[in-house]
Amino acid sequence: MCIFCKIANKEIPSYIIYEDDKFLAFLDLSQVTIGHTLVVPKKHFANLLELDEETAKEALNVTRKVALLLKEKLNVFDFNIVNNCGEKAGQSVHHFHIHIIPIYKKGDLEFNAQSNKLSEAEFKKLHNKIIK
Ligand code: 5GP
Ligand code: ZN
Repeated sequence: MCIFCKIANKEIPSYIIYEDDKFLAFLDLSQVTIGHTLVVPKKHFANLLELDEETAKEALNVTRKVALLLKEKLNVFDFNIVNNCGEKAGQSVHHFHIHIIPIYKKGDLEFNAQSNKLSEAEFKKLHNKIIK
């Protein structure tokens, strides 16, 4: 059984801040910023792409509720809401989860990726590849 299934089953302890019949939100062990929280469905899904539609919708709703809770209790107003989907994208626990990372000041969480500068022709080609 995976680590988040164990947390959902209360087989291993965690600091739970929200719970309903299908979801749990608990403090991430590694607090990227204070209040860093993970939202997980109690049922095991490997990643975002594996979710059913209903669970996907509910996950965003729960994420919003938990962010509002953190806003109220920690007096924080900005957040990065992150999902690492797949190994190369940095997913280390293969039980779907959403990171809620409170942002207290600019630079609390840096994304350092360089952006690609595409020509108009490259944009058109890319667009066609996706929509056709
Ligand atoms: P990922 O890299 O898969 O997107 O995020 C996994 C997160 O789970 C990491 O931020 C890591 O700190 C957190 N984590 C891993 N194991 C545990 C655990 O046993 N308890 C808690 N609370 N967080 C965990
Ligand atoms: Zn699991």
